[in-house]
Amino acid sequence: MDPFDSNSSAERANLPRNMIENSMFEEEPDVVDLAKDSSSSFPSFPALDPDEVVYEPRSSRLLVRGLGENDMDEDEEDCESSARLLGMSFMNRSSSHRSRPSPYTRQTATSSCSRPSTRTMVVCALFWGIVISMTMVLYFLPGCFFTKTGCRKENTTTPLDPVYPVASNGELFPWAQFRLPQSVRPLSYDLTLNPDISKMTFTGRVVISMFVRHNTNRIVLHSADMNISKATFKLGDGEAKDVTVLEYKPQQQIAIKFSSDLQVGQRCLLTLDYRANLSSTYDGFYYSSYTDKNGSKRALAATQFEPLSARKAFPCFDEPGFKATFLIRISRKPNYMTLSNMPKAKTIELSDGLLQDEFEKTTVNMSTYLVAFIVADFSPVSRNVSETLVSVYSVKEKKEHTEFALEAASQLLQYYNNFFEITYPLKKLDLVAIPDFLAGAMENWGLITFRETSLLVGKNSSLLEKQVVSSVVAHELAHQWFGNLVTMSWWNDLWLNEGFATYMQYTSLQAVYPKLDIDNLFLSVRFRAMDSDALNSSHAVSTEVDAPEQVQEMFDSVSYEKGASVLLMLNASMASEQQFRKGLIQYLKQFSGSNTNTDDLWNSLTQVELSTHYQNVSKMMSSWTSQKGFPLVTVSRKRDEVTLTQEHFRLTTDNVTRSSSLWTIPVTYVNDSCSVAPECRQMFTLKTKSGTFKVAESVKWLKLNYRNTGFYVVDYGDDGWAALRDALSSNISVLTPEDRASLIHNSFALSRLGRVSFKHVLKTLDYLTNETETSPVTEALLQLRKLYRLLEKRQENRLVSRMKNFILKRFGSLMDDQTWKEEEEERVSKQELRSALLQAACALNEPKCTQQAKALFKQYTESNGTFRIPGDLQQVVFNVAAQSDDDWAVLLGLYQHVDSDAEKRKIIRGLASTQNVRNIVMILQTGLKGDIIRTQELPLVIHTVCQGFAGYLFAWDFIQDNWDRLIEKFPVGSFAIQTIINSVTSQFSTQSHLEQVQGFFSRLKERGSQMRSVQEALETIRLNQRWLDKNLVSLQNWL
Ligand SMILES: [Zn+2]
Repeated sequence: MDPFDSNSSAERANLPRNMIENSMFEEEPDVVDLAKDSSSSFPSFPALDPDEVVYEPRSSRLLVRGLGENDMDEDEEDCESSARLLGMSFMNRSSSHRSRPSPYTRQTATSSCSRPSTRTMVVCALFWGIVISMTMVLYFLPGCFFTKTGCRKENTTTPLDPVYPVASNGELFPWAQFRLPQSVRPLSYDLTLNPDISKMTFTGRVVISMFVRHNTNRIVLHSADMNISKATFKLGDGEAKDVTVLEYKPQQQIAIKFSSDLQVGQRCLLTLDYRANLSSTYDGFYYSSYTDKNGSKRALAATQFEPLSARKAFPCFDEPGFKATFLIRISRKPNYMTLSNMPKAKTIELSDGLLQDEFEKTTVNMSTYLVAFIVADFSPVSRNVSETLVSVYSVKEKKEHTEFALEAASQLLQYYNNFFEITYPLKKLDLVAIPDFLAGAMENWGLITFRETSLLVGKNSSLLEKQVVSSVVAHELAHQWFGNLVTMSWWNDLWLNEGFATYMQYTSLQAVYPKLDIDNLFLSVRFRAMDSDALNSSHAVSTEVDAPEQVQEMFDSVSYEKGASVLLMLNASMASEQQFRKGLIQYLKQFSGSNTNTDDLWNSLTQVELSTHYQNVSKMMSSWTSQKGFPLVTVSRKRDEVTLTQEHFRLTTDNVTRSSSLWTIPVTYVNDSCSVAPECRQMFTLKTKSGTFKVAESVKWLKLNYRNTGFYVVDYGDDGWAALRDALSSNISVLTPEDRASLIHNSFALSRLGRVSFKHVLKTLDYLTNETETSPVTEALLQLRKLYRLLEKRQENRLVSRMKNFILKRFGSLMDDQTWKEEEEERVSKQELRSALLQAACALNEPKCTQQAKALFKQYTESNGTFRIPGDLQQVVFNVAAQSDDDWAVLLGLYQHVDSDAEKRKIIRGLASTQNVRNIVMILQTGLKGDIIRTQELPLVIHTVCQGFAGYLFAWDFIQDNWDRLIEKFPVGSFAIQTIINSVTSQFSTQSHLEQVQGFFSRLKERGSQMRSVQEALETIRLNQRWLDKNLVSLQNWL
């Protein structure tokens, strides 16, 4: 999935993505409280099957809990208050007693509570003594000991019985874990759906064929928000019999219990008839509508299942490891068409005037999250590519905007077929633009769904807009191999899907469309991934996932961008580009059709690498995927000897354990004698805390991390930095643009870390008056504007105006050089540069810029559609227009009339950039309501409002007032919610804001208090506070 919902590459790169370690969602199942529940008898449980062995500790936990879960030791209290300071709230105080590792226990701040007083140690020892003794005693008592009816004889022989929750009918539900048991696996689904779009309901029948992997007397699968009216079960060739379906809603699971065991090797069929509502959010089988060109409202139904919503459309084993085949039938009115993963096999007439389309059975085994179907009135453009029919679908009036996507998809499909040496396995590939769609796109096998802005571009669209569409298409197409063909076993390794698709999206586009300059975007994306991963609240690429919200939170910059970055680093460190590709092909071929974890990938790559006696990939890469963060490499030099030292680059050091994190770093470097061409690059593998290598004494300077392909920051020390600055001041071409951007990024990062003064950063930026390349300029502008906004929000007005002067002094002449007219045959990097410079100039109220923008807007509105603002200038023009109340209203009118989806998004950003509070209120409320502006755009609206001074506090009030409505629309933990939290909090820098944010989120409890993005928000506010406290005075001297 591509969670980005932006149509501007600059924004895609700049949109901050939040993550924090230790999300602590741990849903407490509605366990039977044996101490209280004395009315029900304790039924006999099935004997344990291998799935349940892990349950043994939970029963003892529960019994302890029954005796007084709130008894807390003083040290626990201390831990809790420290934790609260870290912005955490304890959902279940007894969680530290759990023997099952939980994400929460990862965060129990062991270091901050590691030195208790003697008194507390004694109390603690006493407490634990009692707890352990009681636990031991109770552990060996069966649960029924606490019931009125007492124990039946046979129960006393099964002391390790798990504790089960209560199903919705009052019976015990025979399963209590978040993950499904492995005893039965699905082989195929036969699914028939009858949607009634006008009533927003549907009925369905699913026939699931299953295989028994080991003896068990229950089948447990997923189902959410549906009414099952009939269930029959057939074992082998036996008779189909009615069965009772138990439901446990908190885990979205259903189960069938049997009086005797199903035997290993048996096959069986479960048939379920059900009814449900079409979802009104953006997941499951959902309802969507749009207004056609005649002004009539048209409705449609589409699906979005990743990660956990297939269960909302049909009962299923909704985990990526349970692959199966699917045969799908959907009924429709004659004026609709349907699409699904496979080509249509036949259509039959039903008795009530409806038609039923049946799709071919999938020829591949597929995870449930990749199933998709659509009932709509769309029309396609198509073309054959090798053996595959590629089609792009949209609402009819946007058909002319589909040509570019068709061209890009065809080229990229061809590229991937060749690159992976495995042909795309299906006969058709549909790309569909859906009017209501929350993510950027979703890679359903054979039926990729997109936001309209991620797929549709007009004939006149700028290259920048084409870059967005082609990179989303490239990402989703790469998933047809990475994700669909070979799938991660569980969401903890989501990066195997997303890191790869992200990596492939950049490398394939650079090969297929070099004019789109996608490398610049990839570089910027790597910088942002490091900024996020520097927080203590970040997490390892492969990390434990044990609750629905944690699954949602995996869709973050660590899985996507850091995943892609470490793959780039690996590729750059291997003997040749072909080695990397060979390893990937081997991995895809070896695991085609099945599920994998991270080690499988490293092993495949190691096999290929070791065949040339080069390096052990597995050993190197596990240091990057199993620990959070990245290294800071410090360089020191004595004559010909260079010493490198590594340490964890960590912005927050309070209350964290001093870890001995070590990475195997393929350090690359160039020096003044040869510094630009790829042949100049040399490599040194730093495996230990420090290492040395020799250079000629005549070498004047070294630049590490050539072209910033490595995921680490470098500190050159005073002399090293000075030598690099001197070199750049006399000739900027001694380093590649990527290396210059990397020096700028690393300087800011080191200043934020407190390793260098801000004066050092300013000195590094001195050379910028000669800079004309996109990457260094956009990186410097982004960093400076971030500081500018922080100062502005602290109302440090004198510093704000000095910062403005500083920016104009460095970039003023380059800003003046930019033209305001359509340029023929430009490269994307030139458009990005112009767009970034002029947006900065106009945001700083540079009269020359704002006058030009106003003039263009006037010309545009008066031309009656005959004059077009160049695509890369539209944003700056709309932003300036939105500052005048009259033009803001004109812009709002335009929003409702323009055809181009990319232009619409720019208008939204313009509208939200207004500094008029009344307009800000209106745009936020309109976005929430979803009438004029679709609710899917609300995260973008909030993000833009928060950039400005007038609206950022209002936006904070807005999300507090409307929190419940927001999490109704966007799931807790989702990328949309991550964006919203980051946007409203990332510019706070005062104690009172810190307390407000902490107070608000800690009151939310299960409505989102434990999101990783909340942790990150609190850490970011503290870091802002720390940086400003340290630098405000000095800034007055230096700026
Ligand atoms: Zn993806």
